[in-house]
Amino acid sequence: MTATLSRASYPPPAVDRAVEPSVIELIDVSKIYRTGDVEVGALRNVSLHIEENEFVAITGPSGSGKSTLMHILGCLDVPTSGIFRLAGHDVQSFDENQLSDVRNVFIGFVFQQFNLLSYLPAWRNVELPLVYANGVRPAERRERAMAALETVGLGNRADHKPGEMSGGQQQRVAVARALVTEPGMILADEPTGNLDSTSTADVLELLDQLHDSGRTIVLITHEHDVALRAQRTIQIRDGRKVQS
Ligand code: ADP
Ligand code: MG
Repeated sequence: MTATLSRASYPPPAVDRAVEPSVIELIDVSKIYRTGDVEVGALRNVSLHIEENEFVAITGPSGSGKSTLMHILGCLDVPTSGIFRLAGHDVQSFDENQLSDVRNVFIGFVFQQFNLLSYLPAWRNVELPLVYANGVRPAERRERAMAALETVGLGNRADHKPGEMSGGQQQRVAVARALVTEPGMILADEPTGNLDSTSTADVLELLDQLHDSGRTIVLITHEHDVALRAQRTIQIRDGRKVQS
């Protein structure tokens, strides 16, 4: 049995590691952006595997293709060519509904800019993925949002709006939002890029905890110190994986 990624299977089953060892498998993936006559090869023939419960950093200078790669891994964008398998499933074969289920249920996203809704208190931001996942009742949404906020140490800030919190606290709210669906994988794109060193340490500590609790972590960063927290680093440069 491989992991099913459909709405019918909410909450998501664990990936069967005996049968499907690679959560992520990219084979010869390229992404070409075309703007008018100009073509940018944002990713060029990238092949990589990430196993369940690995903590992997993806590093490279600005413009090297890190965010493009994250968008593909997160099913937010599709490759121009190549194969992308997620938990053994061929992502190209998914329709829009299946893709949005994968994004909602299987993957938790954390972004550099936090991407919180400023007019909603923390717990309302955290419950949002459960609002999009059908069938979770309001009382349970609130309970799970509060539990996720406790996990990131912000149970006492549940009613605060993003503007009333520090950057580090806002990013912890964003991590709680990423966790609330209990996804198997966390994709974080420069999650510490806007944080001071203390808040950076807090967020990295959280990622460590999530890794220890069995999740697969993909951390995109251009900061060497941050990448050192991962078990393994994949470097990209000019859209190509640097052979290590
Ligand atoms: P990074 O996250 O490493 O800074 P990106 O993945 O954002 O790199 O960008 C890789 C390359 O692709 C850059 O040259 C960038 O300008 C280009 N690019 C990214 N997104 C788009 C887009 N939507 N349209 C056109 N070019 C893009
Ligand atoms: Mg980027």
